[in-house]
Amino acid sequence: MGDVPESHPRYASLMARKKMTDAAAAGMLAESALIAHGRGEAFDYLLGEKTCDVAQEAIRETSTRLKNAERCVISVNGNAVALAGTELIACAAVLNCPVEVNIYYRTPARMKALLSALNEQQKQAAELYPEISDQISAVPILGANPDGRIPNLEGPRAKCHSDGILSADVILVPLEDGDRCEALIAMGKTVCVIDLNPLSRTARTASVTIVDELTRCVSILLKRLMEDVRGSDEHWDNEKNLQDSLEVMLRTLD
Ligand code: ATP
Repeated sequence: MGDVPESHPRYASLMARKKMTDAAAAGMLAESALIAHGRGEAFDYLLGEKTCDVAQEAIRETSTRLKNAERCVISVNGNAVALAGTELIACAAVLNCPVEVNIYYRTPARMKALLSALNEQQKQAAELYPEISDQISAVPILGANPDGRIPNLEGPRAKCHSDGILSADVILVPLEDGDRCEALIAMGKTVCVIDLNPLSRTARTASVTIVDELTRCVSILLKRLMEDVRGSDEHWDNEKNLQDSLEVMLRTLD
């Protein structure tokens, strides 16, 4: 990928594909992960591969809810670690919260690969953001020894940490699946998700949905988190935000 110039019109997309295929080779991903990524790419094409104003609003609301949380957590799957683990750890550092690995197809080998990638990314993040390097080094990386379960959810993806997802009042889940999002909402939690598909069950169930590409929006989120807290929008209408995102997609060709 080193031979692709940054001016290439598909540069960001090609780099993301490279991150995904490298992660697959390192055993971090389930086989279906690349299909999920492809579905996201199709929606991003419709967005013109840009963060729209509607997404900016959702990023702002997510940032506020995370900062106003009593206990928040960032829940990551394989794709999220592969695409944006370093930046997500930096977000967790600003929020003083843990990052928890929670995956659908949980195997010891995949968990080991993900935890070791996150440990490397934690070191990279400390170098990239020296002004918060102490907080970055202190971010707990959870997932290895889950001691709790998300109620009403079958299988290994229900496993979680009592000092992470289980006790959090606000959760940021880049790339969630619909069932788990429903189960977390049913527990009374505020769930903020990043999902390029405004029609997915996740997007429609979440408290706040950022319809944007993960790698692109996470750096904007990090900047917002570093700013002052503003009040949460009591009247946040997620359904309207999703409808507006869909309209942006439908207008791309105008
Ligand atoms: P649901 O159960 O919520 O209806 P799904 O089954 O369609 O979702 P999954 O296969 O679990 O979805 O996950 C893929 C989702 O993640 C898709 O909605 C896709 O648009 C989104 N997605 C994939 N890659 C990215 C990315 N890089 N940034 C943001 N969203 C992404």
